[in-house]
Amino acid sequence: MQNDIALFSELCDELFNAEQNQPVAEHLATTNLYKELDLTLNEEGVIDDELKRVLKDIISKTPKTASRNFFNQLFGGRIGKATLGDLLSVMFNNSMYTYKVAGPQVGVEKQVLKNICKLAGYSEDSNGTFAPGGSMSNMMALIMARDFKNESIRTLGLQQSMTLYTSNESHYSISKNAALTGIGRNQVRYVNTNEKGEMLSDHLEELIKNDLKDNYIPFFVNATAGTTVLGAFDDIHTISKVCKKYNLWLHVDGAYCGGVIFSKKYKHLISGLEYSDSFSVNAHKMLGTPLSCSIIVTQNKAQLHHSFSNEADYLYQTDGDDFNLGKTSLQCGRRNDALKIWTLWKSVGTLGLEKIVDKQFELAQYARDYILRNNNYKLYSFKDSISVCFNYKDISAKELCTSLYENSDLMVGFGKHNDVEFVRMVTINTTLQKPDIDNFFETLERHVSEKLLKKPVS
Ligand SMILES: *Cc1c(COP(=O)(O)O)cnc(C)c1O
Repeated sequence: MQNDIALFSELCDELFNAEQNQPVAEHLATTNLYKELDLTLNEEGVIDDELKRVLKDIISKTPKTASRNFFNQLFGGRIGKATLGDLLSVMFNNSMYTYKVAGPQVGVEKQVLKNICKLAGYSEDSNGTFAPGGSMSNMMALIMARDFKNESIRTLGLQQSMTLYTSNESHYSISKNAALTGIGRNQVRYVNTNEKGEMLSDHLEELIKNDLKDNYIPFFVNATAGTTVLGAFDDIHTISKVCKKYNLWLHVDGAYCGGVIFSKKYKHLISGLEYSDSFSVNAHKMLGTPLSCSIIVTQNKAQLHHSFSNEADYLYQTDGDDFNLGKTSLQCGRRNDALKIWTLWKSVGTLGLEKIVDKQFELAQYARDYILRNNNYKLYSFKDSISVCFNYKDISAKELCTSLYENSDLMVGFGKHNDVEFVRMVTINTTLQKPDIDNFFETLERHVSEKLLKKPVS
């Protein structure tokens, strides 16, 4: 193993160099994937030197999500202390279901959950768990809401059509989860949004009333803290009043921007969170930990246990349910996703996490200011969003992003709102500085003048 650790260290150096020298990996067409890399699995193994050579090839061609040119998704960068925690959890290789096999790691997870509950404004009676991602966190919320509405569903299955509500701009996992949980995609009601992409609560109420009239059973509303494209924040306070009136479970999907609970300056964006029933946040997005680190908390601790516990004599043999985390989990064996956020939090403190969150808004403001100063750009984003959406010189966003990627200049994606397609640049990597944002725009502009405006633009 010591040799493998030494090799790991050597490969990390290779990766760091590649990130510096070639921040966007050379584009590898799928048709060349198996030609350019030796990914074959054979009867005979390879000797270490050969393995090292293949791994180095793979490193060079793998997309560099921690580089200064990666703005493609809702994660990016690498924070040392968080990565350290994740590497340690691989070495420990505990499974989080019981105190017997995870020991202090259970305490690590419980501390993170307790502090997230507190920051969310939840009572002492709240609890939560780690899920394999934001989509699964949303599914856990949906299941709790379903079982809360009708306890017998756990045993009998669905007997009546139940409806749920989410905005047009919400994450696709909501409708996928409706299918997975037996609710059905047709029972998802899409609430209209305003021009900023925020849910319209009047429309929400109208949809609920219509469903009640048609004898459906409304049970769940999903509000989003940071919509996937525009980064918009639904008005939780107003939505919570509608939920209360009709006795619906309110979940706040904060996978993207729920991290604002750490910021005194931006916490107002999720005001009213304390009135929600559940809340999820991906630490691998705003807080910068490695994938995946998704947390779901609920005010209704009993429901979490109710929906997810199972008796298993072969497993739960010691200690109480409070320390056997398998009793509140979607999974059986479960990797330790808590240690990376704990290590980061421990090392920088709550104030350090606040700085990480605030910096993203600062970088986004800096990018928006650049766009607003420059007539060749059109801005689609609003204040208080870390998704910077724009178009440049009427060039198709899709064409621009694809060309930047295939020419190894920048990794950035595109999105759509009200049928307008635009570039979506995300300032979520807090290891970057303002000059890196300048570099983004310079690179994009140079690319357009050298590569795209030379050929006819479709
Ligand atoms: C990213 C995201 C999700 C999904 O999270 P995964 O960890 O990718 O499953 C859900 N909701 C929103 C708003 C997101 O931005």
